[in-house]
Amino acid sequence: MATERCYQEVVSREISVHRWYLGAGALALLGGSLLVPAVRVWVYMLVAASAMVALAVGVRRHRPVWPAPWWLLAAAMGMSLLANIGWALAMDPAGVPRFPSVGDACYAATLVLLAVSVYRWVRPAQQRSGVVDAAIVAVAGAAALWTLVVAPLLFDGRFTGLRMASYLFYVGMDLLILVLTVRVVVISRVRTPAYRLMVTAAGLLVLTDSCYYALLLAGESYDRLTALGWLGAYVIIGAAGLHPSMARSTGSVPGNPSPASRRRMAIYVSLTLGISLLTILSLSAALPGSQSPRLIVLEVLGAAMAVLLIVRLSQLATLLNRRTHLDTLTGLGNRVMLQEHLDRPGRRRRVLLLVDLDGFRDFNDTFGHQAGDTVLVETGERIRAAVPSSATVVRLAADEFAVLAEADAGDHELAQSILVAVHQPYRLQGLASRRFAASIGVVAVTAGQPSPPVLRDADLALHTAQMRGGDQIAVFDPEMHAERLANTELVAQLHDALDAGEFDVHYQPIIDLATGDVAAAEALLRWTRPDGTRIPPDRFIPLAEQSGAIVAIGDWVIRRVCRDLHRLWRDHRVAVTVNVSAHQLRDPLFAARLLQVLHAGEVPGAALIVEITETVLVTSVTDAATVTAQLQELREHGVRIAIDDFGTGYSSLAYLRELPVDILKMDGSFTARQIDNGGARELAFIRAILELGRSLDLVTIAEAVETPAQAERLRSLDCDLAQGYLFARPAPLADLHEFLRRPIEPALTDVP
Ligand code: C2E
Ligand code: CA
Ligand code: CA
Repeated sequence: MATERCYQEVVSREISVHRWYLGAGALALLGGSLLVPAVRVWVYMLVAASAMVALAVGVRRHRPVWPAPWWLLAAAMGMSLLANIGWALAMDPAGVPRFPSVGDACYAATLVLLAVSVYRWVRPAQQRSGVVDAAIVAVAGAAALWTLVVAPLLFDGRFTGLRMASYLFYVGMDLLILVLTVRVVVISRVRTPAYRLMVTAAGLLVLTDSCYYALLLAGESYDRLTALGWLGAYVIIGAAGLHPSMARSTGSVPGNPSPASRRRMAIYVSLTLGISLLTILSLSAALPGSQSPRLIVLEVLGAAMAVLLIVRLSQLATLLNRRTHLDTLTGLGNRVMLQEHLDRPGRRRRVLLLVDLDGFRDFNDTFGHQAGDTVLVETGERIRAAVPSSATVVRLAADEFAVLAEADAGDHELAQSILVAVHQPYRLQGLASRRFAASIGVVAVTAGQPSPPVLRDADLALHTAQMRGGDQIAVFDPEMHAERLANTELVAQLHDALDAGEFDVHYQPIIDLATGDVAAAEALLRWTRPDGTRIPPDRFIPLAEQSGAIVAIGDWVIRRVCRDLHRLWRDHRVAVTVNVSAHQLRDPLFAARLLQVLHAGEVPGAALIVEITETVLVTSVTDAATVTAQLQELREHGVRIAIDDFGTGYSSLAYLRELPVDILKMDGSFTARQIDNGGARELAFIRAILELGRSLDLVTIAEAVETPAQAERLRSLDCDLAQGYLFARPAPLADLHEFLRRPIEPALTDVP
């Protein structure tokens, strides 16, 4: 607080410094215009000196990042001081300086320094833009000066030799300063008080000079008025140097927001009409000397104006064209741009990647469009940074991006680097940092291949990546077409399968490794088409999830399991574990429905285990609350929760601490690969998982146990439960009952 007030005081004091200077300057001005010429020259010296000092003080105090123009201005003021000293010394008794004198040379230098200062107002990198606009003003200004000053000077014969040359030079410099000032206005985006003061001063200077010469040639003199203009310009320059905003006024950012604003168009029209007006004036006025040279120059300038306006028009067209190819949100290209680049024949092999954020729609719906837009903009930037700069990066739809890159090989690496970039946490204002995954479809683009199929193929590859669960890369393969067709058909059949009674549930026993007893059984869905073909769950469940059919099918499985459970639990105390997908858990009524089915079937909660995969927990960021609440509710009624395929997903251990979990199902790949290889490294993983389970008080089930050696190893590691082909394959309920009646295998109970 205190420092802020202190800062404000400093700022207000600094602003008042420049006000004081302006006030004092106004007085000097008044004096300067009233006094006789012989004294007035001293006022000029005083004002020029004060402006020079003001500029030097300003640069010292406000430290502009781009100080060159300010130093040049100070030098110009110094030069002007010298010019006035020179003129004062060369003054004849009538108060008119002799010509030529040192003063005239110094004044010429003043104008040059002013021009250079305005020229260097913006950084060199920006100096190419705005040239056409400046040239338009230059042509119009030249026409005016030509008609009003230069032509009379050349043709009426009153001034000759060095005098005429010096006037022509001054007029030329004025035009240059005017044009350079216009250029600054066009290309600099800065509109600070100091900037406005500077532009005003430059304008005033040029205006005063023009009036002066025009009056001079007309044989008149309003020297009090012109003194007011010149002194005023100097005072304004000094005040600009003292204003604190002078530090931010130079070397500014390029880019003009509206290159085709109405105001600018109006200015172009008036300038063009101005030239015509001058031509008409020259034609009608009875001016001394020959008319034709005057008119020829005006005609040439008029033609130059026409050419410049056409160039300007084409610039605007290019700009507009570029804008229609841009995505307004991310600043990347859009579909039109991608299309254009795809149609352009590439010499090298190219690759097209479609990138889609997983779960973005949910995020957008939950946290609003503003947060969503932030994620999209940042994703665009990350993709841009992850691919070569020569690549075309566009946004096609809401959260779908495309990259077209030249690639001799390594398409996969390119896609991989995008995945890695997207995986980084997103820091969003007012929200905890979020993570996203992405699906990427990759297709090679061969030269001369029409683009719609390329886009379609890439889309298919993307779709495949999404179908496989997202967070992965799929490279296009012609078979994907057939697959998609088959999928569409399967989805259609899926909707009827439930009513047609084509589903069945098989059970696979889960064995207590210490006793050999059946501790539970996993319910596994089976689909048999009327023609007898069996469709594996790995094939149809992702489709059922995608089409939403899983909710009805899952409900059916639970009803079916509860019916079967009644006897299993009563007679054998065997619990059943049911696979439940993320889609089912997102339905806020899922738990309530499940509990109602249990209740109706008179099955206690303890008889049921709900199996979810760890990816359910990690990827459904937006539904985390719903999912947790449902699991919690189930647990309150005795239902246990198992994490399926543990160790294959994100394995972010954080959720184990936060979520209600009872059982870990160690993924089958650990059992198969690692126990068989028997390496210390592999074993270490199993030990770690089992140890984790123990320390969190969880029961661990090993999956896919196929050999006695595997079972033995697991038991020696104190793994609680196991399931697999070694004990039994998934089979109809009758087989499970059969299995429960079998004598317990001695090999499993006898510990040597
Ligand atoms: P999962 O939950 O990991 O199920 C275990 C899979 O491993 C089953 O495949 C099972 O038949 C198989 N398996 C059992 N023992 C062995 C073994 O010793 N060796 C090998 N190599 N495999 C073994 P299945 O029945 O094809 O099920 C595949 C996946 O389908 C399941 O994986 C589960 O994610 C899903 N699924 C099955 N039924 C349902 C269901 O009712 N609802 C939901 N949402 N998903 C289900
Ligand atoms: Ca399972
Ligand atoms: Ca599993």
